[in-house]
Amino acid sequence: MVELLIVVAIIAVLVAVSVPMVIHQLEKARRAVCVNDRDTMRLAAAMATLTDDIDWTTYSDSAAVIAKLKEMGLIEEFECQSGGTIYAEENSIKAGNVSFRCTYHDDGEKPGDEEENLTGTGSALKKLQDALQKAWESSNKDKGNTTFLQEFFKKNNSEDYLQKEKVSDVLTEDQIEKLAKSMNEKQPGYTETQIKSVLQKYANSELTIAPYVLTDGTIVYYYTEDASRFGTDKQNHSTTSMMYYNGTWYMAPMADANRLKTDFYPAKFFSMSPSELFEKEGWIAVN
Ligand SMILES: [Zn+2]
Repeated sequence: MVELLIVVAIIAVLVAVSVPMVIHQLEKARRAVCVNDRDTMRLAAAMATLTDDIDWTTYSDSAAVIAKLKEMGLIEEFECQSGGTIYAEENSIKAGNVSFRCTYHDDGEKPGDEEENLTGTGSALKKLQDALQKAWESSNKDKGNTTFLQEFFKKNNSEDYLQKEKVSDVLTEDQIEKLAKSMNEKQPGYTETQIKSVLQKYANSELTIAPYVLTDGTIVYYYTEDASRFGTDKQNHSTTSMMYYNGTWYMAPMADANRLKTDFYPAKFFSMSPSELFEKEGWIAVN
């Protein structure tokens, strides 16, 4: 009987350990399918330009491109298995060399996100996003145009787009507890207590939230010591340990006994999407 109980207990532990792993593997597989589908679509679009002389620059938007590819029988209905939407990227249509993105896997949008539920940082970011979108549309400037952004932030009072949240508002005691645990798992060289005290120091420091505009127009917010460095300077903005993207704050994964590793620049996002980068570098969602 005791042996049977032990076996049952071991199985229970195994199930508990393996369920998250299976879920992780499943999501990895779904991502792979999504990437593969988008590659197929990209090739189909390229083929259409070669064999049928299709000029994609004359197509108005993603829907028109996808409709044409279907009409030509080059693609079937592709759907992201994780609930994202696959779309032809705007700039690639303009360039005539169509590539596809996924709202979930590339842009990190959670399916079914409701904008009107945004509060705090989320609503400040939404306000900035809307104002920038309007400015872009009326100026016809490219979203990666740095001079335009510098002028925008000079003209508009940047303070309007800032949510005055203290770090401790976002990084609560409860979250510090959880974060210290997962950071300790990533780097067992320091004790949980050591990491916790570093996080507490960080939470109590005087930092401001600054927006940073990526080349595709996506905005991230980050905690910085130097709020005058608004997100327009590609070389000389300060580093950060916490970033807000698509409704969630993310924390840099590493700390030593004395400090958080704050050598992270938002500009690193220029080479990949925030969600890809968070995954690659192991950033931790704060919630
Ligand atoms: Zn996807």
